[in-house]
Amino acid sequence: KAGETWPADARYLEVSMVRKSFHGVTVMEGMNFRMARGELVSLLGPSGCGKTTLLRVIAGLMSPDSGDVVLGGRNITQIPAHRRNISVVFQNYALFPHLNVAENVAFGLKARGDTADLQGRVAEALDLVRMQAFADKSVTGLSGGQQQRVAVARALVVRPDLLLLDEPFSALDRKLRETMQVELKSLLRDRGITAIFVTHDQEEALGVSDRIAVMNAGRIEQFADPSTLYARPETPFVMDFVGLSLRLRGRVVDQRGGTCVIDTAEGRITARADLGVGAMAVVGVRPELVRAGAVGDAAPDRNLITPVLEDAMVLGSKTILHARATEGDRVICELSGIRQGFSRGDRVTLDWAVADTLAYEVAP
Ligand code: ATP
Repeated sequence: KAGETWPADARYLEVSMVRKSFHGVTVMEGMNFRMARGELVSLLGPSGCGKTTLLRVIAGLMSPDSGDVVLGGRNITQIPAHRRNISVVFQNYALFPHLNVAENVAFGLKARGDTADLQGRVAEALDLVRMQAFADKSVTGLSGGQQQRVAVARALVVRPDLLLLDEPFSALDRKLRETMQVELKSLLRDRGITAIFVTHDQEEALGVSDRIAVMNAGRIEQFADPSTLYARPETPFVMDFVGLSLRLRGRVVDQRGGTCVIDTAEGRITARADLGVGAMAVVGVRPELVRAGAVGDAAPDRNLITPVLEDAMVLGSKTILHARATEGDRVICELSGIRQGFSRGDRVTLDWAVADTLAYEVAP
């Protein structure tokens, strides 16, 4: 099997120049995607950006108009889905209601005629997801989280070369989803399973993945590890989609030595970016890097604005300040813990480091 012999640092999965259209409408073109063996990669993006299409092309459930899919050195583009040794866990689990838990898990092995030590392997897979006690139970009586575990056991029992998960937790409530994320992540890590996880939930992607491919309109905008993606988003789309940020639009009025000054509705903002004078720009900063209530003038290496406070939301572990912003702008600041003494309508002093300021040129 490919997964057992392929070196961990090599490109294990390579999707090259994939193009896909539906009824003459191209939804994906020139798609390239690479990952190493043992990696857990998320495809993250808004509805309709092409996550499921890419996943289906990899699984063989959909053939691309052109392009190639290579897994473990083997070109599988023309190989039918059932002969790829790729398992898929779907959003709705797709369990068979007339089969019990163990029979659901055994199904894939039986379908392949791979029945050596069937009982032992099913028991082991159920053990992995802590569902051994439910082996004889009907799947229709299980909770959402339990059905999810059975679906994962069914996917893993065949020892796939690649595991694909399409929004596997979207039907679960928030607390259970968090528990399942932790469980799944350690299960995949412990077993060295290579997996791709589709989600539109940025926190989920940040929490579970080694790397994240942020997708927008059929393209990958940035492919990086969670901390790079959060601290150094390469495009305003990635900045907005991955985490919240204070965001102001303006025009570049000065530029020298890799630093530019942008004139916004809240005043002038300095950023380390090479944007041409006259260009329209969007500047951002992660809200937890913004300080509130400083006195005095801005230090030269910090930006300072004094907007009117609209709301202070005390959430316990953090307090979020929202200030009034013009259309397209967002002025927020996230302080740790419970912070009081901020009143609606007051001017609040917000400041942050120039080094933390993100800036991008945008269309006028
Ligand atoms: P979601 O998060 O809503 O599932 P997604 O990112 O997975 O979205 P896709 O399902 O891959 O997006 O869809 C990408 C684009 O392709 C969308 O514009 C969608 O309408 C279109 N599309 C996908 N499948 C088909 C199909 N079978 N027939 C026609 N159009 C399709």
